[in-house]
Amino acid sequence: MSSVIEKPQPATAQTPVLIDRFGRQVNYLRISVTDRCDLRCVYCMSEDMQFVPRSRLLTLEEIVQVGAAFVNLGVSKLRITGGEPLVRKNVMYVFDHLGGLPGLKDFTLTTNGTQLSRYARDLRAAGVNRINISLDSLQPERFKQITRTGELAKVLDGIEAARDAGFDRIKLNSVVLKYKNHDEVLDLVAFARQKGLDISFIEEMPLGIVNDHDRAYTYYSSDQILEDLRRHYTLTATTESTGGPSRYYRMSDSPTRIGFISPHSHNFCSSCNRVRLTAEGRLLLCLGQEHSVDLRRIVRDTTSSREALSQAIIAAMAIKPKGHDFNLAEQPVIFRHMNHTGG
Ligand code: SAM
Ligand code: SF4
Repeated sequence: MSSVIEKPQPATAQTPVLIDRFGRQVNYLRISVTDRCDLRCVYCMSEDMQFVPRSRLLTLEEIVQVGAAFVNLGVSKLRITGGEPLVRKNVMYVFDHLGGLPGLKDFTLTTNGTQLSRYARDLRAAGVNRINISLDSLQPERFKQITRTGELAKVLDGIEAARDAGFDRIKLNSVVLKYKNHDEVLDLVAFARQKGLDISFIEEMPLGIVNDHDRAYTYYSSDQILEDLRRHYTLTATTESTGGPSRYYRMSDSPTRIGFISPHSHNFCSSCNRVRLTAEGRLLLCLGQEHSVDLRRIVRDTTSSREALSQAIIAAMAIKPKGHDFNLAEQPVIFRHMNHTGG
C-alpha cells in the first residue's frame, strides 16, 4: 500500500487551530474506520442492520490522509473507533501510519475487546497509549442478551491482553440501562478496581431506532448510579479530564477513576472539543446533529490539492452546532445509529 500522508509540520506560533463560532477549540478527532461489528448491542444497533457497501468506505490510505490533515491543523488527540475498529481488514495500517505523527499527544482506541487478544501488543507498539473497552455486564448470559451475540469470555481475555500490553491507561465503558444491567454497577466497579482499570458509565443516547427497548423507560441517570455507588464508596469529584466528555470521581482507597458520560443529565456541549469522521468520510460536527461535510469527495477529487482538504476542514468549523437536542421521550430525530456515527 502506498503512503499518502501529509507530513505534519512542527508546531509554531502560526500553527493553525480549529476554532468554531462559539469559541470552542477543536483538538480531538474521532475516526470511525468501519460501521461493521461482530456484536449487535441492543442500544447501538437494530437487529437487521444495513451496512455501508465497502466501495463507499474511505480506504485505509484515505483515512490516514484525513487524520494526518487534522493533526497538521493542531489536533492533538485521535481516537479510532467504529463499528468495531478491529474487524476492519488490515486495520493496523491506520494505527501504524497515524501513531507517532508529530503533534499527536494522545492516540486512543475504543473497542468491544473481542479482538484484543490478537491485536493488543501491536496496537501498543504502533503508539496507542490509552484504550477504552466496552463492557456492560459480567454475567455471560446477560452479556449475550445485551450484545445479542457476544461471548463474555472472549472480551475478558481481551482485557487481560490489554493489561499485559502495557497501555498507560485502560478504561471500561458501560452503557447502563434500567432493568437490563443497572443492578451491576457495583460489580463492574469492583471488577475495575480489582484489575486496576478506570470505568465510565454512559447514559444511552437516542441515536437510530433500536426496537429492543423504550429508551425513556430504560433511562438510568448518572446521578442515580452515583447514589448507588456512594452507599459503598467514598467518591470525590475531580476536575480531571481525559479530553472527552467524562466527569471523573476518585476513590479514597483505589487508583480506579469513575467517570460519567451524561448527555441527558449533565449536558457537556459547551465544552465540546471534538468532531467525528464517519467510515464513509463524512465529517460530523456534532454527535446529535446532522451538520456535516463530505471529505471523501474532496479526498477523491483528483483535481483538488492537499490544501483543499485543510481548507474544507477549517471551513467546517463554521457549521459546528451549539449542541445536541436529545430527547428520550420522542422518536429519535437522528436516524444514524451509533455504529454509523463512530462512538
Ligand atoms: N465497537 C466499539 C465499542 O463498542 O467499544 C466502538 C464503537 S461503539 C459505537 C463506542 C461506544 O459507544 C461504546 O462504548 C458503546 O457502548 C457506546 N454506544 C453505542 N451506542 C450507544 C448509544 N445509543 N448511547 C450511548 N452509548 C452508546
Ligand atoms: Fe458493536 Fe460497539 Fe455498537 Fe456494540 S456498541 S454493536 S460493539 S459498535
